[in-house]
Amino acid sequence: MKSVVIDKRRDKVNDECGVFGIYNNDDLDLVSLTHDGLYGLQHRGQESAGITVIEDGEPYTVKDLGIVSNIFNEKNLGKLPKGKMSVGHVRYTSHQYLDRAATQPLVMRYIEGSLALANNGAVTNFAEIRAALEKGGAIFQSNSHAEVIGYMISTHRIDSDSIEEAVLKTMGILKGSYSMVISSPTKLIGLRDPHGFKPLCLGKINNSYIISSESCAIESIGGKFIRDVYPGEMVVIDNEGFHSYFSEKKKTTSLCLFEYIYVARPDSIIDGVNVNLARRKAGEILFNENPVEADIVCGVPDSGLDAAQGYSAASGIKYATAFIKNKYIGRTPDGVGNDKTQRLLKNRLNVIKNIVDGKRVVIIDDSIIHGNTSAHIVKVLKDAGAKEVHVRISSPEFVHSCYFGMDLPKSEDLISNRYDVEALRKRIGADSLKFLSVEGIHKIAEGCKIGLCDGCFSGVYHADKPKIIYEDKFANKIKKY
Ligand code: SF4
Repeated sequence: MKSVVIDKRRDKVNDECGVFGIYNNDDLDLVSLTHDGLYGLQHRGQESAGITVIEDGEPYTVKDLGIVSNIFNEKNLGKLPKGKMSVGHVRYTSHQYLDRAATQPLVMRYIEGSLALANNGAVTNFAEIRAALEKGGAIFQSNSHAEVIGYMISTHRIDSDSIEEAVLKTMGILKGSYSMVISSPTKLIGLRDPHGFKPLCLGKINNSYIISSESCAIESIGGKFIRDVYPGEMVVIDNEGFHSYFSEKKKTTSLCLFEYIYVARPDSIIDGVNVNLARRKAGEILFNENPVEADIVCGVPDSGLDAAQGYSAASGIKYATAFIKNKYIGRTPDGVGNDKTQRLLKNRLNVIKNIVDGKRVVIIDDSIIHGNTSAHIVKVLKDAGAKEVHVRISSPEFVHSCYFGMDLPKSEDLISNRYDVEALRKRIGADSLKFLSVEGIHKIAEGCKIGLCDGCFSGVYHADKPKIIYEDKFANKIKKY
């Protein structure tokens, strides 16, 4: 077996979090279920995780830097009360440093008691809102968008009749992307931005309600998916039941297409489209657009695997498993932090020599950001004896950055802006290199109930980019943990 160590975190798109919450109308073990729900969302963020349980209006929180299995244990979860509601969060940060104060759920005191907030997204007018609040004397503990949102809700609550009105007023000001779970002392609230950039859905377990970034987490705790939260919708669950409100309905909505290609778990259904089937379809279309003669087709774990099966089904080329991913490295005590070695180890892939030796191999991956991962993969396949290596990418070329919560490099740092496809092929050492077309990626999500964003591929965004980029003057002064 040949081994390749790849820093996929640095050479991949990273998403910005998963959110989860339960309103307990039964006698559920809320703490365990929220823990298991976060486990089901772990793929959306591995740098911090937290659970807040609300009992008699008071919040009780366990949160830390790290992955779910490293943070939570019987001892710390055992200290949480049974609870009426829970809010959970897993986080990936796009910042170069880890700001411990930004770990979520963020718990903030306001006029009625406490708010617990968990967010997935990027508010594009964050810099302006924060500057205005700071000029008014506001003090923030972190660089978190959730903290600013919490501050806005608490401010609006003063001249609103209800928390619902305060949240809707806040939604009316926020721009960009956010999918959130928030608890007030008596209500569990879910909100999704009017563009619908990030997924958010509703489920039920017995008589209790669940709000989650993805349906896979609802099903993983034995719950039933009910429906997606609509773009611009705020759902509220309290002791009178379930209520729905809208802040704004946009004509053009923009679910991130990369959720289907890479971010979401394949067993999730997002806005009516099954992620596994979307990835298989990407593989099928990829073959129809870019056929090649080969002996086997393989996927780069994990998100390349379904697309490779689709490519195999469309082409008749035998599907094979060429890479084994070490599943246990992610459970090392330091699942986070800045230790490069740990991060590299997290993504160790081993190539199975006898599968590829002497073969013409099609290898499917989900994207190319810097090209280093692809070059490594081609090299180890060739070192293991592959006669030819044909790289197929199940998304179009990244040529623009993302302003809506996906951690893509600046446009000028994207490899596809510095090399054309032929030059990139040579650079990674492949015998051929092809990408899915922009038209092709739209076909993978046919039947999606809302509009789709392809901004990083096409340069066309259906929402305004940030006018000012927030710069944290103290970023370099924050101690690394
Ligand atoms: S620009 Fe790209 S990564 Fe960002 S939301 Fe749109 S499709 Fe997703």
